[in-house]
Amino acid sequence: MIYADVVIDITSGELDRSFSYRVPDEWEDKIGVGMTVTVPFGAGNRQRKGYVTGLSDKTAYEEQRIKSILSVDTSAETTEANLLKLAAWIRETYGSTVIQSLRTVFPVREKMKIREKKRIVLKADPGTAELFLEDLEKGRGKARARLLRTVLESEDKTLDCAYATKELGASPAVLRFFKENGILDVESEESYRMPFRIEDIPREEPKPLNRGQMAAVSEIRSEWNEGRNRPVLIHGVTGSGKTEVYMTLIQDMLDRGKQVIVLIPEISLTYQTVRRFVGRFGSKVSILNSRLSRGERYDRFVLAKKGEISVMVGPRSALFTPFTNLGLIIIDEEHESAYKSEQTPRYHARETAVHRAELEGAHVVLGSATPSLEAYSRAAAGEYRLVSLTERHEGRPMPEVVVTDMREELKKGNRSILSRRLRDEMEDRLQKKEQIMLFLNRRGYAGFVSCRSCGHVIKCPHCDVSLSQHMGGRLVCHYCGYQTQSPKVCPECGSSYISGFKAGTQQVEQVIAKCFPQARILRMDSDTTRTKGSYEAILSSFASHEADILIGTQMIVKGHDFPAVTLVGILAADLSLNASDFRSAERTFQLLTQAVGRAGRGIRTGSAVLQTYSPSHYSIQTAARQDYEAFYREEMAYRSLMDYPPAAPLLVVHASCRSEEKLSQGMYYAAKFCSKLSAAYQIRVIGPAPEQVSKVKDMYRQALYLKGKDDASLTILRKHLEDYIAINPGFREIYMQYDHH
Ligand code: ADP
Ligand code: ZN
Ligand code: ZN
Repeated sequence: MIYADVVIDITSGELDRSFSYRVPDEWEDKIGVGMTVTVPFGAGNRQRKGYVTGLSDKTAYEEQRIKSILSVDTSAETTEANLLKLAAWIRETYGSTVIQSLRTVFPVREKMKIREKKRIVLKADPGTAELFLEDLEKGRGKARARLLRTVLESEDKTLDCAYATKELGASPAVLRFFKENGILDVESEESYRMPFRIEDIPREEPKPLNRGQMAAVSEIRSEWNEGRNRPVLIHGVTGSGKTEVYMTLIQDMLDRGKQVIVLIPEISLTYQTVRRFVGRFGSKVSILNSRLSRGERYDRFVLAKKGEISVMVGPRSALFTPFTNLGLIIIDEEHESAYKSEQTPRYHARETAVHRAELEGAHVVLGSATPSLEAYSRAAAGEYRLVSLTERHEGRPMPEVVVTDMREELKKGNRSILSRRLRDEMEDRLQKKEQIMLFLNRRGYAGFVSCRSCGHVIKCPHCDVSLSQHMGGRLVCHYCGYQTQSPKVCPECGSSYISGFKAGTQQVEQVIAKCFPQARILRMDSDTTRTKGSYEAILSSFASHEADILIGTQMIVKGHDFPAVTLVGILAADLSLNASDFRSAERTFQLLTQAVGRAGRGIRTGSAVLQTYSPSHYSIQTAARQDYEAFYREEMAYRSLMDYPPAAPLLVVHASCRSEEKLSQGMYYAAKFCSKLSAAYQIRVIGPAPEQVSKVKDMYRQALYLKGKDDASLTILRKHLEDYIAINPGFREIYMQYDHH
């Protein structure tokens, strides 16, 4: 006997529970996850439509209380069916409950629809509106004139809609009259509050592609025309014009009546990027961002489903836009860690996009100047189609990079955060009235301990990751739990200049202001971008040359195009090398390459100064040469040697609990359970060890690392572990998360 889990009416967002139904014998071979079924529901056994979310040969309910499915619709390949299959795949691949995976894929309609506040805004230029008003006042349109006058007299040329209706007697007909004449319009408060308005973005003609772009486009078209449908990875150097390539491919799809999803990391969803897509495709485009409420997100998905928009641009979650005729999914800056969900299910947008495209016969294009090792190794294996853009637009040269050794600076008596070279170059650019970006690499900074004289970093003897400093001077490895005391002098050179690295953007700003009192400085970090619109304000202020120097964290390196920047200074390039994470060399290379790539995008050639304590490290060297291939070879060799992904798959089991004792005990047994199965599935068990951040909001956190030969064996092991945990009362208060790398 087969039982089906059925969710009733998925579009209402009531996903909190599924119901168990018996599958009649004649349907056993035909039923599948994602199919639409008709079932008797409720006390009156009303016929309702439902969706199958799972199948099983057992049920938790009493046999006689279970009703039978009335009919199965095997014909309809609906959008919902595909998304349901996608949810099932996510659950299977990454580990989560049914509800968690459904909630990931289907946005939930707000229970109570919050009434949207509306505003009347001026559309015509004020001069035209004044003339229009004069005409109205001469004629008989008193209510109309009153409304327009009030709008024109207001400070920001807008008016609350409710006020206009109640106090000024503006009827819907009056509003329609103004709208038809292009004088006024009504907008939601939300879009009014956005730092820029989509409607104001002027349409742009497509730019003629350059030779490299044309070659890339025709390679991609022929890949698809040949009927092969591998995901395409565009490896294009910074400034090579990937966006123009994307837009040409999008146009291809629109011409064929298909729809397109464009994923862009949230941090890059700025006016600059949005303008390019909206300028090209106008009202066919909709933008998703995290500032939208769940209700608004839902509304946009409804528009997509109705076919009123054809291009959805947004961060990770835009991947689930319910287009009915999806043709293409583009993932820009494919290497970004933001494409991985930090919540259960910890899905990766890249893998999930590839799977969705397979389900719906769509294409996938990934793009990056610094592809992830995962994507590039797949391309190397022929699983993805690699397409390269090796030159900048109009043959502009790549920046010239100088590496300065900060240990040498210290030896020569320079204790400042600026090397002499960087200071000289800055002086030069300020004199020439060119712009400078200073990037403080603080990513992954987690209290590692290093020597300022020789650059030595204290590492775990077992894991080749840096140890993290904890309270009381203890150093801890987060991969195996190894602990030791923090040394007083450097074990390499005996210097006492050994400590955790401390420097923030604020300190950097103070130093720069002292060195260059005449320079105009902008600072961008989590402090200065806390208020709404401030991020956009800093970017546009720098773009219009209201400042000479922009100081910031990784926020400033993400895909921005400032043509007047001719110098990029990278302070402490190696800070992120020492994060206790096997991807730290990759992240460092990516950040440095992207940062260097901000220089010289305009007419004038750019250069970069890269300050470091480890000038010979391959991440630094290859980033300085902008040599991705060389980096890839070195890094892949390291991953293979250490059995890290993508050379070998890794499953991290994250666990948290209020009681440290219960957590330790639970994880001890979880590790033991996995060890018992390790021989059968060829798996290595490492840990448990405290997490990088070992306690959050009074919840203790530990992790267990499972390394395997292939993904399939790790998935099976995970399922065994899930079952073991489900029946074992010792885990009741422990919250588990699975992270497949
Ligand atoms: P990437 O994303 O690859 O770093 P962009 O797409 O931002 O590069 O392009 C870099 C710059 O070159 C942008 O200012 C863009 O407008 C310009 N550009 C790219 N392709 C063309 C083209 N075919 N014609 C004119 N300008 C272009
Ligand atoms: Zn030392
Ligand atoms: Zn270790």
